[in-house]
Amino acid sequence: LRILGIETSCDETAAAVVERDAEGHSNVLSDVVLSQLDEHSAYGGVVPEIAARAHVEALDELIAEALKRANVSLDEVDAIAATSGPGLIGGLLVGLMTGKAIARAAGKPLYAVNHLEGHALTARLTDGLAFPYLMLLVSGGHTQLILVRGVGQYERWGTTIDDALGEAFDKTAKLLGLPYPGGPAVERMARDGNADRFDFPRPLVGEARLDFSFSGLKTAVRQAAQDIAPLSDQDVADICASFQKAISRTLKDRIGRGLQRFKTEFPAPGEEPALVVAGGVAANLELRATLQALCDKNGFRFVAPPLHLCTDNAVMIAWAGLERMATGAAPDTLDVQPRSRWPLDSRAETLVGFGK
Ligand code: ATP
Ligand code: MG
Ligand code: FE
Repeated sequence: LRILGIETSCDETAAAVVERDAEGHSNVLSDVVLSQLDEHSAYGGVVPEIAARAHVEALDELIAEALKRANVSLDEVDAIAATSGPGLIGGLLVGLMTGKAIARAAGKPLYAVNHLEGHALTARLTDGLAFPYLMLLVSGGHTQLILVRGVGQYERWGTTIDDALGEAFDKTAKLLGLPYPGGPAVERMARDGNADRFDFPRPLVGEARLDFSFSGLKTAVRQAAQDIAPLSDQDVADICASFQKAISRTLKDRIGRGLQRFKTEFPAPGEEPALVVAGGVAANLELRATLQALCDKNGFRFVAPPLHLCTDNAVMIAWAGLERMATGAAPDTLDVQPRSRWPLDSRAETLVGFGK
C-alpha cells in the first residue's frame, strides 16, 4: 500500500509518500516540507491569513515534488491522506480541498487525518512501537499527555490549562528581546546561564491530575525581567536557564505521575513500557535529558523520533492514513469538513456523522 500525505494545519506546507507492505514493513519514499518561518518571524508568531495564502501558493508544486522524489505517479498511489484538523482553518481548507480534488480526479480513497493522531502514531513508523504507550506532545500549539491504546483509540490524560509549552518558550523569548521562534533562542542563552538564580514557579506540581500550566511561569519571568531591567546578556542567560529548570522540574513531576499511572493500568504489558515525545519542543536537549532520566528511573523506554518527524510533516499524516487502512477502516466521504478544533480522544464519535 502506498499513500500520499498532505499537511497544512499550521505554518508548514508538507507532502510525502509512504508505503507499507503486508508484513507491516514501511518505507518513506519522500518527505517534502516547506516552512513558512521567514514569512511569520517579523510578526513574532504565526499569522493565519499569511499561512493560508502561503499554503495555496506552495501546495500543488510540493505535492508534485513529493511524487517525483518518490518516483511514483498518482496512479501508483493507493490513497490520499490529508490533515483535516485541528489547526488554522484556512490552512486546513487548502490541504483538505486539495486532497479531495486529487482523490476525486484520480479515483482514490481519501483519509481525513487528525494532526494529533499523526504525531501519536509516528513512533510506530520510526521505532516499530507496539500498543499501548504514552505520548507527550509538546509543540507551539499543544501540550498533551496521551495514552495511545491502538489506532483510533486515544485517551488524553493531561493537557495544558493555559499556554502550550512551545508558546511559553516563544512568549518568554519575546519579552526578553530574543528572536522568534523562542525555543531555540532560549535554549541557546540558557547554556551560559545560572539556573539557580531565579526560583520560578512550577505550576500544578504535586497535584494528582496530570494537567499542565505555563502562563504563571511566563508572568514570573516578566516580573523578574522588570525587577532587574535593564537586562545584561548575563541576566537574560540566567533567566533562560532558570526558566528551563522550572520546566524540567515541572515535567519531571507531571510525566513521572503519568508513568506511574501507566504502570498501574498496565501492570504486565507485553514489552517494556514506553514514553514517546513529539512536537517542536522535543528539540530541547535539557528537556530530552530530563525525560530520558525519568524513563530510566521508572523502567520505561524513551523514544524520541528524529526531529524532522517530531515537528510538523506529511510523513506522519500519510502513516496515520496507512495505519487506518491497515485496520480495514472505511475511507472518509468527500463531504468531510475540516475542523479547527478536534480533540484526539473524540475521534470515534466525530467519525460518525462527520461534517453534519
Ligand atoms: P502544532 O502545535 O500545530 O503541532 P507548531 O508549528 O506550533 O505546530 P512545532 O512546529 O512542532 O509546533 O514546534 C514549534 C515550537 O517548538 C515553537 O513554539 C518553538 O519555540 C518550539 N521549539 C523549537 N525548538 C525548541 C527548543 N530547542 N527548545 C524549546 N522549544 C523549542
Ligand atoms: Mg510549526
Ligand atoms: Fe504538530
